[in-house]
Amino acid sequence: MDHFELRDGILHAEDVPLPAIAEAVGTPVYVYSRATLVRHARVFREALSALDKPHVAFAVKANPNLAVLSVLRQEGYGADVVSGGELTRALAAGMAPADVVFSGVGKTHDELVQALEAGIGQFNIESEEEGYELAAIARRMGRQAACALRVNPDVDARTHEKISTGKRENKFGVPLDRTGAVYAALDREEGLQMRGVAVHIGSQLGDLEPLESAFSKLGALIAELRGQGHTITHADLGGGLGVPYKAGESMPSPAQYGAMVARVTRDWGVQLTFEPGRIIAGNAGILLTRVIRTKRSGNGPPFVIVDAAMNDLARPAMYGAWHDIEAVAPSGEKTMAHVVGPICETGDTFAMDRKTDTLSAGDLAVFRTAGAYGATMASSYNSRGFVPEVLVDGDRFAVVADRIPADTIMNVERVPDWL
Ligand SMILES: *Cc1c(COP(=O)(O)O)cnc(C)c1O
Repeated sequence: MDHFELRDGILHAEDVPLPAIAEAVGTPVYVYSRATLVRHARVFREALSALDKPHVAFAVKANPNLAVLSVLRQEGYGADVVSGGELTRALAAGMAPADVVFSGVGKTHDELVQALEAGIGQFNIESEEEGYELAAIARRMGRQAACALRVNPDVDARTHEKISTGKRENKFGVPLDRTGAVYAALDREEGLQMRGVAVHIGSQLGDLEPLESAFSKLGALIAELRGQGHTITHADLGGGLGVPYKAGESMPSPAQYGAMVARVTRDWGVQLTFEPGRIIAGNAGILLTRVIRTKRSGNGPPFVIVDAAMNDLARPAMYGAWHDIEAVAPSGEKTMAHVVGPICETGDTFAMDRKTDTLSAGDLAVFRTAGAYGATMASSYNSRGFVPEVLVDGDRFAVVADRIPADTIMNVERVPDWL
């Protein structure tokens, strides 16, 4: 459920009519609903209520906006970060260092130092090599790094190949048949406090079965590690729950997920961590755009050219992803159309042969489900600048990220005087 609804024929974000935001901030612009973020955060937490003190760490990469992180911090969420930049943001949003988990295969030396200095709650180590490097840095700094070993369970998450992370051939984690040896080696390292294991098999999962399979393997691994004499107190089950991108599409609910987790982990005797991203933020945001013009092309449907493009919302170009497209003031009439952005690439296509609300030059429209992996993936390709972000709360709204105009980006460039 979200809070983007038609009222008197005009699409609103909570109590704010979207044309008011377009007027004040211009387009394209991302619009987030605080009430939706809060609702999703609570539904997810509620789904885990059968568990003993689960820790929920929002996957910052899904939506790193400081205002969004602040809303989630107020809901008791921590952060799953994958870079020093994300760690800085989580702390700037007021999250406690102890509530931060650091994932990622390529944590640099400087990032490991930064995270140790900050005193984060857990490092999810993705390789033996990373473990040794972290141990050496921790010893030098006189610190202890609390760690989980990320396992690659070799399960097919049945999602888009670019966001599948739990197959043997993916770069993530340590293969299951090596985890016993790697865990034992890292457990001997002074500077590391090995306390558990982690998995994350991919994103936009529409099926609980691969997750259950991965968790079952993790459960067996915990038993095996305990059998080797290790003390396992923590397990991190990652994120990955899919959201419906198409009206009417059905996805496993957080409640079904929570029930499955409770069943599979019943005997584990550990504190569980979760790293949801998309399920919290996806449907809490839209990308508001204006139609520049429409263009007839041969006998086919017209091209509707909007002022948002693949640099603002990369998912369609990157993953062939679907976003529902709706008029802000729908007439009730529908037309078959191709919806594209202005960028000089055929990849800059949001929809082909899509039956949508009829859209004409000057009309406002939205791409739905753009709150996760939207603004955060933006670039300035075609020198288009960075799209701004707005947070709505009831009948008020605030710009929570300014538009960065193309000339601001140009102004950091230098032409050397020897040219
Ligand atoms: C991306 C990512 C997540 C979040 O995935 P969602 O599908 O957005 O829930 C969680 N954990 C890790 C390690 C990730 O890389």
